[in-house]
Amino acid sequence: MAHHQIVIIGGGNAGISTAAQLLRKNRALDIAIVDPADKHYYQPAWTLVGGGAFDIQKTVRSEASVMPKGVTWIKEKATGFAPEQNQVNLESGPLTYDYLIVCPGIQLNWGAIKGLPETLGKNNVCSNYSFESAPYTFKCLRNFKGGTALFHNPSTPVKCGGAPHKIMYLAADYFRKHGMLDKADIQYWSGAAKLFAVPKYEKTLLQVVKRGNIKLNLMYNLTEIDGPNKRATFVGFGEDNKDEVREVSFDMIHVTPPQSAPDFVRNSTLVNSAGWVDVDKGTLQHVRHANIFSLGDAAGLPISKTGAAIRKQAPVVVQNLLDMMAGRQPSANYMGYTSCPLVTGYGKLVLAEFDYDNTPMETFPFDQSKERWTMYQLKREVLPRMYWGAILKGMA
Ligand SMILES: Cc1cc2nc3c(=O)[nH]c(=O)nc-3n(C[C@H](O)[C@H](O)[C@H](O)COP(=O)(O)OP(=O)(O)OC[C@H]3O[C@@H](n4cnc5c(N)ncnc54)[C@H](O)[C@@H]3O)c2cc1C
Repeated sequence: MAHHQIVIIGGGNAGISTAAQLLRKNRALDIAIVDPADKHYYQPAWTLVGGGAFDIQKTVRSEASVMPKGVTWIKEKATGFAPEQNQVNLESGPLTYDYLIVCPGIQLNWGAIKGLPETLGKNNVCSNYSFESAPYTFKCLRNFKGGTALFHNPSTPVKCGGAPHKIMYLAADYFRKHGMLDKADIQYWSGAAKLFAVPKYEKTLLQVVKRGNIKLNLMYNLTEIDGPNKRATFVGFGEDNKDEVREVSFDMIHVTPPQSAPDFVRNSTLVNSAGWVDVDKGTLQHVRHANIFSLGDAAGLPISKTGAAIRKQAPVVVQNLLDMMAGRQPSANYMGYTSCPLVTGYGKLVLAEFDYDNTPMETFPFDQSKERWTMYQLKREVLPRMYWGAILKGMA
């Protein structure tokens, strides 16, 4: 049976940056990354791709090219866990470890919306949530000649809580620039109770909503899409709209699929009652298995799941893992930092940064709730370079 000192499940944003940081601390560590993927994606830019403001080809590289030197890459799918035996099951058989880091990201449950898999990428039904479908969003914007444009956000946790509405603000700005805003009926249908959790940033977003004449419909789930007939069905679940069924005709719809931890994680003993990896929210150590850590989208942390959060989580996992290996108690603590670069139009962005309590934790010495051109440039020009050039190399 193969054995490695540290096994990392998932070579995405979290897995690669954590492995790279560990190796910077100690070149001699024996680390294996399990991931079957050929490609590695910079997903945060898909919002701009959908708005026609970023080249999709710049969001993908081969997985081989981002694998840190010195890591053993096991190009396979993990299928389950046997934590009592310090064992992960792969398609080809078991693999054992001294320490395990679980970060296989989030699962997109497209099939949970009836009719969606058949119509995605056709009939003006688009989504920025995959490499394949994001460019079609911009085609839908360009094809729009007025009518009803729907934007949807499910009631499950999603990666980047801002992404379902950022594309709506870009769309409104696109329609305005092309003289179509007056002819557009833009509607947001969301499974959340609020537009955005942090009042300081929500205040600005509500002004952006007003500017685009956008109608907000909160506490609804999208249950079905009939692509050919361009009809979407929403069902309410709030106090005032419980079980209310609303059928809405559309000229275009942007869908965010319901999301969960991957099935092989959800069906394991590693999860909390909500189905995410059950870690301590400060140390990121598993609450029942001291030699297991988790970070990134699959971790059961009460925050918006973002790459920006991973940038603050990875050093905590690295420090606490090295502490454990040296026989010390975990010493690093994650405060719940996350960030959402809220694109509010072409050349406009509100950089939301906050912690577990939704208290702003801002980087810059100015009011970050204001829309700024400089912050848009940060997202479009600086962050992608920082991702490929520094974050994945364990340097940021
Ligand atoms: C449209 C969109 C906009 C976004 N905008 C932003 C933004 O503006 N700012 C921001 O910070 N974040 C943003 N994000 C979120 C960010 O991309 C994710 O939070 C981040 O990629 C999560 O990293 P991860 O390593 O947990 O998962 P991922 O990067 O998704 O990687 C998961 C890896 O696990 C592998 N894997 C899956 N199943 C298995 C298995 N069974 N066995 C082994 N390996 C497996 C996959 O192949 C993949 O390589 C956005 C995401 C999207 C989709």
